[in-house]
Amino acid sequence: MIRCYIGLGSNQGDSRAIIVEALEMINGSEAIEITGVAPMYRTVPQGYLEQDDFINTVAELNTTLSPDALLSTLQQIEIDLGRVRTIRWGPRTVDLDLLLYGNETINLPQLQVPHPRMHQRAFVMVPLADLNKELQLFGARVSDTAKRLAGEQGIVKLGLMSGY
Ligand code: ATP
Ligand code: CA
Ligand code: CA
Repeated sequence: MIRCYIGLGSNQGDSRAIIVEALEMINGSEAIEITGVAPMYRTVPQGYLEQDDFINTVAELNTTLSPDALLSTLQQIEIDLGRVRTIRWGPRTVDLDLLLYGNETINLPQLQVPHPRMHQRAFVMVPLADLNKELQLFGARVSDTAKRLAGEQGIVKLGLMSGY
């Protein structure tokens, strides 16, 4: 069993419901068990600014899937939930990023882990710190990085997810 963290985001449709549905689909997948879900957060978009706010959270899971198989599972769920790829960093019904896969470093063309931009993003680091206070990433405590980023970027806690 490998302990992994997944970042979830949505800013199209009923984003909270879509994230709950994505979590159910992930948990319902073969060889994946979700063990924790952070509260949901509302965050202002980064990169491409002319779009609605995002709803984000992070899930912790155990899996026996390989990194590639886990990524494929997440990408299939994105498609099943109606994601259409348009503008990079633009609006999307759901975005599922593989943040951490155990302690592994992965550098494939289609998959980099730890996710290379996660440590710059309050919407990833804040919910990740909710789930695991002890975690270290790139030589810093996730909870310290989260605190700093939360002061720099707009992020609002929406409350605990029901059912997890
Ligand atoms: P960002 O990666 O900056 O969060 P994004 O999520 O909007 O941007 P996508 O369009 O969802 O980017 O994905 C682009 C590609 O990123 C995917 O085709 C996938 O192969 C690749 N990728 C690389 N590493 C990862 C990872 N850790 N998790 C998910 N996708 C990844
Ligand atoms: Ca992303
Ligand atoms: Ca993505």
